[in-house]
Amino acid sequence: MTQTGHCLCGETTYAFDGEIVWQGHCHCESCRRNTGSPLTTWFGVPRGGFRWTGRTPGSYESTPGNHRLFCTNCGTPMAYDGGWDKKTMHLYAVSLDDQTLVAPTIHFHHEEAVDWLTIEDDLEKRIG
Ligand SMILES: [Zn+2]
Ligand SMILES: [Zn+2]
Repeated sequence: MTQTGHCLCGETTYAFDGEIVWQGHCHCESCRRNTGSPLTTWFGVPRGGFRWTGRTPGSYESTPGNHRLFCTNCGTPMAYDGGWDKKTMHLYAVSLDDQTLVAPTIHFHHEEAVDWLTIEDDLEKRIG
């Protein structure tokens, strides 16, 4: 089944076939500054089944070989294209059109979490 997502203005859109491979909350400083939020909820999909379907996103190389993609009209962060991850494209859970697909299972980079946000779930809180 094909799943879809879009940015705030609706011009940058994507679609993918296949299952979501992983889902989790990231607390790293790069994600926080990129999104302006204390944590960012990601999911990964196989690169082979993923495509952009609207406006081509802009790209910012946030660390060598790794790009953060965004809508060039409204600025919405759209994806993380990690040169180190040849298998999955990383997408923002909140950009999905169907929020029932979202079920995070883990926290990433929990050591970088802001101390004013209280997380009370039972998910694994991975360091790094
Ligand atoms: Zn947009
Ligand atoms: Zn992060």
